[in-house]
Amino acid sequence: MMVVHAMRDIAAGGEIFFSYVNPEHPFAERRKKLRDGYGFECGCDLCRAEADVRGAALEKRARLRAEIHSFVSAHRIDGDGPHKAVPAVQKAKASKLLHEMRETYPPARFERLPRLGCCVIGLWVALAAMTRSPGAAHGRFLDVLRDLGCFVTVWGSEVTVDRGRAVWTETGLHAAMYAAQCLAATGNEVAASALEALGKEIYVALYGVEDGFEAESGRNS
Ligand SMILES: [Zn+2]
Repeated sequence: MMVVHAMRDIAAGGEIFFSYVNPEHPFAERRKKLRDGYGFECGCDLCRAEADVRGAALEKRARLRAEIHSFVSAHRIDGDGPHKAVPAVQKAKASKLLHEMRETYPPARFERLPRLGCCVIGLWVALAAMTRSPGAAHGRFLDVLRDLGCFVTVWGSEVTVDRGRAVWTETGLHAAMYAAQCLAATGNEVAASALEALGKEIYVALYGVEDGFEAESGRNS
């Protein structure tokens, strides 16, 4: 039996999209798995945009992917403290990697689409900002959600969530929960609750159940 949780309302007769492969793997690998394992070529907006990234941009992205992998493996960072100061040189390196990775996503094609290669280093940058000043870091976590294709804006206590073409991963779950922590640190409990609700939505989308979410969230409300 398969349980499908819809991310948005589905019109009668509408299509249901399902991610057959790990969205955090490189596009070429995902496409190959779909061809070899499932015998089809995905025609979704994201796959069509990804297929247009070629040549130098693609090489640059592969190089950055490897660099990001070794950077985050060498410099583990944890938002749950006790917080150690993150060296400025590491923060500068991480910001540069994030900026360069974003450049491999042509703005015109990816304006409304996920930029999946940015999420891991984006979360690192956000966590580094959080160790310095939790109150000012929520925007960095919203950037991670944006790189997953989910557009969140916070105006005072008002939160809007545009799920667009969102792709949910554990990185997104962490981003939503840390954003909630940052907002709570500034006393913005209303916005914090909205982000926590988004975290719960992602959790259910990932695991199919609500069980265990409270433990994962680590916030006793
Ligand atoms: Zn696709």
